[in-house]
Amino acid sequence: MNKTDFKKTPVNEIYGINSFGDAVMRERLPKSVYKELKLVQEGNKGLSPDIAEVVANAMKDWALERGATHYTHWFQPLTGLTAEKHDSFISPTSDGRVIMEFSGKELIQGEPDASSFPSGGLRATFEARGYTAWDTASPAFLKEDNSGGVTLCIPTAFISYTGEALDMKVPLLRSMDAINKQAMRILTLLEMDADRVTTSVGPEQEYFLIDKDFYDKRPDLMLTGRTVIGSKPSKGQEMDDHYFGAIKERASAFMSELNMELWKLGIAAKTQHNEVAPNQFEIAPIFDTTNVATDRNQLLMETLKKVAARHNLVALLHEKPFAGVNGSGKHNNWSMSTDKGVNLLEPGDDPTDNANFILFLVAIIKAVDKFAPLLRMSAANSGNDHRLGANEAPPAIISVFLGDQLTDILDTLANGEKYQSEGKESIELGVSTIPKLPKDLTDRNRTSPFAFTGNKFEFRMVPSSMSIANPNIIINAAVADVLSEFADEMEKSNNLNKSMKEIIARTYNEHKRVIYNGNNYSDVWIKEASKRGLANITNTVDALTEFPKDYSVDLFERHNILTRQEIESRHEIQLESYSQQINIEAEIMIELTKKQVLPAAGKFIRDLAETISGLKQGNSPFSSFENILSETALNSEILYKRIVLLQETLTKAQNIENSPLKQAKEYRENVFTKMENLREVSDTLETMIPCELWPIPTYLDLLFRL
Ligand code: ADP
Ligand code: MG
Repeated sequence: MNKTDFKKTPVNEIYGINSFGDAVMRERLPKSVYKELKLVQEGNKGLSPDIAEVVANAMKDWALERGATHYTHWFQPLTGLTAEKHDSFISPTSDGRVIMEFSGKELIQGEPDASSFPSGGLRATFEARGYTAWDTASPAFLKEDNSGGVTLCIPTAFISYTGEALDMKVPLLRSMDAINKQAMRILTLLEMDADRVTTSVGPEQEYFLIDKDFYDKRPDLMLTGRTVIGSKPSKGQEMDDHYFGAIKERASAFMSELNMELWKLGIAAKTQHNEVAPNQFEIAPIFDTTNVATDRNQLLMETLKKVAARHNLVALLHEKPFAGVNGSGKHNNWSMSTDKGVNLLEPGDDPTDNANFILFLVAIIKAVDKFAPLLRMSAANSGNDHRLGANEAPPAIISVFLGDQLTDILDTLANGEKYQSEGKESIELGVSTIPKLPKDLTDRNRTSPFAFTGNKFEFRMVPSSMSIANPNIIINAAVADVLSEFADEMEKSNNLNKSMKEIIARTYNEHKRVIYNGNNYSDVWIKEASKRGLANITNTVDALTEFPKDYSVDLFERHNILTRQEIESRHEIQLESYSQQINIEAEIMIELTKKQVLPAAGKFIRDLAETISGLKQGNSPFSSFENILSETALNSEILYKRIVLLQETLTKAQNIENSPLKQAKEYRENVFTKMENLREVSDTLETMIPCELWPIPTYLDLLFRL
């Protein structure tokens, strides 16, 4: 099935048709309204009811023309997913007909029943009072389902009536405000032409595609997104033949339709390719402002799943669907730029530009070093625990890659010397004594968790299934914090150049321990990092405990991003969601091994016993089947014992009350370990039991049959 024909419907004709973006607004709104809305979007003006009314009307007309019958406030509660509740536009008239209505009030504010969303104790369930508020900066869009249903979706923030953030968007927007405010203080001192600084993000999304018929026979995949048992096929990814390989036709038909849907939504899907593991792929759109990129990444993940289903495929977004082959992550490409289009992380052509660049660069280095545990926390989930440090993703240690050249420059500057580049390009020594930087500094290091790649940083620890909101909240907050320190110091100084030089040298010297240009996968680095005193937080539970610590609360409160109460509630939700995930994995593992693997082993033993008795009747002197039988019986025995053990441990964990942390620790330290033990013997049995008796699709089916 391939519904895409870009000859008949050229891309430029469909691009953005489902997005109430800038072009549509300019076309459909009266000029004065459009202008005023722009001011609102940029945070320079409040939204007046009159303007909202006009926009709502234009939005409704546009949506109705495109076939919409319903609208919804679309938001991101703390489940990490998106939520929507549809209302139709219809409004009955007294003569028994309907007209289609959508008011400014309905656009601006909604009132979903908030009681069932996690709030981590912020709001007692019976109060259930939260509201959604239109985010004017993120374009409304239309969701089309396969049968022709169309819904207008309005990106919104989700807030309690007492003003607490109940979602991912509110703190993200607050963090963007914080970095804007602090960066603008610096730019004002530097006399740069700018009114606003925004952060941008381009997330690269990895995923697996598998055949839905196989998926439907794997309850573990269905319920947890990963295989909790399954032995590796004889061939995995060791031949390196999948990465960037020719894309299989079935996958390419899927991608074609995926691109079409994304383009219609105005999501600039740009690159796509095979990833390292068999049936693993990546899609990367062109970057957006952080807020829009975050919304769109959620939408992209949803679209991946939706379009896959149309092709009888399933898109797996879990970080580690399969043991033994690479898992999936998300590269969060992050940068900051001015409203005049200047990327602050781009080395410039003249010394002044570069002085500014270096200042922002050392601010980021310090931010990463100082708040490394929080960055680590922002990339923590149970799925990522299987990846970080497993030679497929960066280790759990946060470090920064700059490349040798940039590191040399900083070393030299920090020693107060003038930088002499190695014949690549001449040095210009302006008043600021910051050299002109060589053009190409972007040698890549794929193993680094936080790599400078020319004009942006790439945070490579982010889990594939998770919203990118948290990682970006942390990066924004941390960088804003350091910039505010710089601004404090520079504002007080009466010699800006001197002050900048001092800040650069001091900051670099104090935080260069976080810079590492070598192979992050190596044991050498693990040892070296520990010598340097860098944190190595190996699992989710430990990482999550960073969030409510004082230094973290101080950071978020200082910049009005999250209050202590909001942090504590989020922390509780994160712990609970971790425990729940492991709990489901353990439950399904017990069920699978008990009801599928053990019976299969039993059948095999029965077959073997029959064979052996046949051999005996024939007076055969051979005993190989007896050996196989005892081996199978022995492993079945071990399997059963481990099932019982896991069940006991699980019950114990389930019964821990009133301490989400204690419970999460129990899941991590005991349940998880018992699961690994059980898996080991189940996978051994899988290698012994004949294919036709094995009850569920194997890794061969899942990874190679597409
Ligand atoms: P890789 O070599 O890591 O696979 P890609 O070229 O596939 O990199 O992806 C790079 C990503 O970085 C893209 O999503 C791109 O839009 C994004 N990007 C480029 N410039 C910026 C920027 N200034 N801010 C944020 N993201 C950016
Ligand atoms: Mg990348």
